[in-house]
Amino acid sequence: MNEIMEIVRSKDPAQREFHQAVQEVVDSVKPVLDRNRVFRKEAVLARIIEPERVIMFRVPWLDDQGQVQVNRGFRVEMNSSLGPYKGGLRFHPSVNLGIMKFLAFEQVFKNALTTLAMGGGKGGSDFNPKGKSDQEVMRFCQSFMAELFRHIGPNTDIPAGDIGVGAREIGYLFGMYKKLANEFTGVLTGKSLNWGGSLIRPEATGYGCVYFAAEMLATKDDSLAGKRCLVSGSGNVAQFTIEKIIELGGKVVTLSDSSGYIYDEQGVDLEKLAFVKELKNMRRGRIQEYVEQFPNAIYTGAEPARKFNPLWNHKGDCAFPCATENEINGHDAQNMLDCGVGLVSEGANMPSVPEAVGVFIENKILYAPGKAANAGGVAVSGLEMAQNSMRLNWPREEVDNRLKIIMKSIHQTCLEASAEYGEPGNYVVGANIAGFVKVVNAMLDQGLV
Ligand code: NDP
Repeated sequence: MNEIMEIVRSKDPAQREFHQAVQEVVDSVKPVLDRNRVFRKEAVLARIIEPERVIMFRVPWLDDQGQVQVNRGFRVEMNSSLGPYKGGLRFHPSVNLGIMKFLAFEQVFKNALTTLAMGGGKGGSDFNPKGKSDQEVMRFCQSFMAELFRHIGPNTDIPAGDIGVGAREIGYLFGMYKKLANEFTGVLTGKSLNWGGSLIRPEATGYGCVYFAAEMLATKDDSLAGKRCLVSGSGNVAQFTIEKIIELGGKVVTLSDSSGYIYDEQGVDLEKLAFVKELKNMRRGRIQEYVEQFPNAIYTGAEPARKFNPLWNHKGDCAFPCATENEINGHDAQNMLDCGVGLVSEGANMPSVPEAVGVFIENKILYAPGKAANAGGVAVSGLEMAQNSMRLNWPREEVDNRLKIIMKSIHQTCLEASAEYGEPGNYVVGANIAGFVKVVNAMLDQGLV
């Protein structure tokens, strides 16, 4: 195991997020390798940590002033043993190869847990859509797709959205793909409803994350009704996490963006949530404006130098980190426990640093890692692919029911795997082992390729 981590670190010393994601899986699957000698003999760990293919490309585009801008594009095709590569595209200035590889690696296990036939991949660019005009975003997306289109396809690799890539970007990307490939296929998911999208896809990650939390609470004969919830982020995942928490009777008191967070003691109700959706999705504004509209709430600006994030230092029963990776450090985790948090369900990918995960596990709270709790998004993307293949649209209730069944099944799979390997109730171990075993068995069936 140490040897594997040595290889990962020495090959790509700067890819810290990738090291972190691999370390967590390596730590979890040791007992699996001990029980299955053939896994060791076939060097499955060394194989699964190496992407099948990495595509990196130049994305030149013209801004509104007629100036040439150049960004870097990525697609990491990590593993296709269970199906075509599947995973989102992220447009954010922090994007680099290490972040793409960590996200693609996580995606492989997540997709395996969904029960659908999907391999894992991830892509994106260091392009920052913030402050750009629609025309600039369109020109960027068209240039990005002018290269990506030759590597993807409905049976090869099917990208979707992630941070900075929503309905607008998916539309521009799809338009360019269609023009270049001269075919109308389900090559992207997260499409708009009137041209091939699925009902419930925008809601799926947030709803799924709350369904997973409800499943965890049910193991303690408890529910979300009356629970105070801390939520971070205010984008796609956060918005629909809040919507479902409200529907199930919980009270949400925080939300945030990268500039700061708001605390609303009275709770975010559906009217306030509608304001947030309009603010973030249409006007692309900042969360600070929430307090201008609802003056009882308190806004606190972000201070990266702070030892802890005050958002996680409010009284609460449940926490739903829905912004980005490594947003909860060890201090935050301890503060959460001191404030009464007994459940963490991760809408974001890898939002908790390893020290924070350690705090949750040692204290035996209900803790669901992103690769299990936020798998609802890619699961409904899989359902969108199925509907596209059949040229059918399922009604809202049908997709939502399937999402619920999938989240229930992921929860059960994690519990069973954690119990089988001697750590009952440890969802990290359960998710890693169940995903790993499924992918590795498929890899072995398919030979050394
Ligand atoms: P959005 O772009 O819609 O929203 C992201 C939110 O997180 C915004 O509020 C953003 O603030 C905030 N944020 C982003 N980066 C930072 C940062 N460095 N520090 C603080 N806040 C930050 O993205 P999504 O809601 O789609 O994605 C959120 C998380 O969920 C990501 O980790 C993503 O990988 C994960 N995820 C998303 C899925 C999906 O279906 N969309 C599926 C599974 C996981 P600001 O407005 O200031 O940028």
